[in-house]
Amino acid sequence: MNTTPSQYVTVRSVRWHADHLFELCVARDDVAFVPGDCVALFHRDEAASRPYSIASGVNEDELRFLIRRLPAGTVSADLARRVPGDRIRMSPPFGWFRPGQVGDFASAAFVATGTGIAPFLSYLRSFPAQPPRICLYGVRRQADAVAADWVAQRCPLKLAVSRERVPSAHHGRVTDLLEALPLEPLLHYYLCGLDTMLTEVSDWLTARGVTADRIHRECFFNA
Ligand SMILES: Cc1cc2nc3c(=O)[nH]c(=O)nc-3n(C[C@H](O)[C@H](O)[C@H](O)COP(=O)(O)OP(=O)(O)OC[C@H]3O[C@@H](n4cnc5c(N)ncnc54)[C@H](O)[C@@H]3O)c2cc1C
Repeated sequence: MNTTPSQYVTVRSVRWHADHLFELCVARDDVAFVPGDCVALFHRDEAASRPYSIASGVNEDELRFLIRRLPAGTVSADLARRVPGDRIRMSPPFGWFRPGQVGDFASAAFVATGTGIAPFLSYLRSFPAQPPRICLYGVRRQADAVAADWVAQRCPLKLAVSRERVPSAHHGRVTDLLEALPLEPLLHYYLCGLDTMLTEVSDWLTARGVTADRIHRECFFNA
């Protein structure tokens, strides 16, 4: 018997940023969450669910998700076909990744690939007065960098675009930019996105003496 409590939320909008990347917005109702939390969103037949990180701020009246539609994806492709008014089954928020919030909001550095920017958007929207020291953000194409301008207005941002040349961005992977990360004894590092990036950045930090308790990771996709 499935005893997991869940509820149904109503779709307000599905906004496309690129042909494979969209923002799903649902009415928040009375859902309480902490930046970094995920919820499980269900396929319309309710046979499958996947976790998605909340990208909106704690003071907003809606929940927003930044979702990459995988061509053969069971749940992401279904969510991409939702329309305003649809009801989606959703689990309560859960999570352990707490960007910017460990150590009583000690100084933070963020590193994201793709939709891995979502929990950092939630943090910046929730705690605008306590921005991170820097955010490194890696995407494949400029159209994927949905939040880059907004983030750049709130903290120092270094953008890497791997599959096309963009004048204001590094052409390559986000891991090419690691020298920009400050190395300080009290700084906490938050990494979110592709597993290979998490491993590479963690190894880079560890080799420079950063202890594991200051490296926080959330894996969205396995390469
Ligand atoms: C804690 C957590 C939070 C997450 N938050 C988000 C989020 O905010 N936004 C978001 O978009 N996703 C997020 N994800 C990923 C999400 O949960 C799903 O795994 C993703 O949407 C794919 O599910 P699906 O049902 O569409 O695809 P599936 O049916 O599970 O997979 C379909 C096919 O796609 C392949 N595939 C898997 N990953 C990739 C990839 N990166 N590129 C190409 N093919 C791939 C699989 O091998 C499979 O063959 C999160 C994952 C975790 C663990």
